[in-house]
Amino acid sequence: MSKVMLITGASRGIGAATARLAAARGYALCLNYHQQQAAADALVAEITQGGGQAIAVQADVADESQVLHLFAQLDRHFGRLDVLVNNAGMLETQMPLEQMDLARWQRVFATNVFGSFLCAREAIRRMSTAHGGQGGSIVNLSSAAARLGAPGEYIDYAAAKGAIDSMTLGLAKEVAAEGIRVNAVRPGVIDTAIHASGGEPARVARVSQSVPMGRGGLAEEVAEAILWLAGAQASYTSGALLDVSGGR
Ligand code: NDP
Repeated sequence: MSKVMLITGASRGIGAATARLAAARGYALCLNYHQQQAAADALVAEITQGGGQAIAVQADVADESQVLHLFAQLDRHFGRLDVLVNNAGMLETQMPLEQMDLARWQRVFATNVFGSFLCAREAIRRMSTAHGGQGGSIVNLSSAAARLGAPGEYIDYAAAKGAIDSMTLGLAKEVAAEGIRVNAVRPGVIDTAIHASGGEPARVARVSQSVPMGRGGLAEEVAEAILWLAGAQASYTSGALLDVSGGR
């Protein structure tokens, strides 16, 4: 039976690249999306036409009832879970902290932090050997911003990713004896649409000059790291924060 991977925010960017690579490696996929149903449906069609298994499930990961619905759909279609990729994430318009308001911070933390916590909790309840599960792994999407701080751009987003690093370190220890590994990937500047949502579509080109390798990364390059941490090749790796940032 195929291993089952749930990827949040899989309609585009790093999540979609991870889905394509995971399908090629034989995973059955539960692909969560938030708003872009057409993109998620097209990805499911692409994977199934290639002989893979995938379903798309709409859910806002920041909403507990919607996360419960997402996992109920996963249970109904696949009846098991081997890997959770906590990929759904967002940022808001670049600005200094002094101009930000509380409502923005609540949105940024709700999706990036609480969404990952909610999905991790539901995954553990299914994967933990303490609950009769088979074990598994969780890969969180942090960011190089967690250690760089994103001054003048989005310190709130950087701090949210810092929380993901702390969660990864603690949870890895908490569930290690229950057969679950927990790791994080910290991408640098990767060429996806997330930068446009921060108000600077060309951010990758600008920031590339400060990357030792001299370029931004591709979503496919991050997907390779996610798939490695997710699978048996990383069987003794837990609590790792893996930088995929071109040396930055
Ligand atoms: P994109 O903006 O390209 O895609 C974001 C994805 O997350 C979409 O599939 C979107 O769904 C989904 N999403 C957003 N909010 C929610 C929500 N509330 N509930 C469910 N899904 C949601 O982002 P990237 O691919 O660039 O980023 C993926 C992850 O990698 C994020 O966690 C990001 O913070 C992190 N990262 C990205 C970097 C980069 O340079 N690109 C660098 C470091 C980290 P929909 O399309 O349906 O709206």
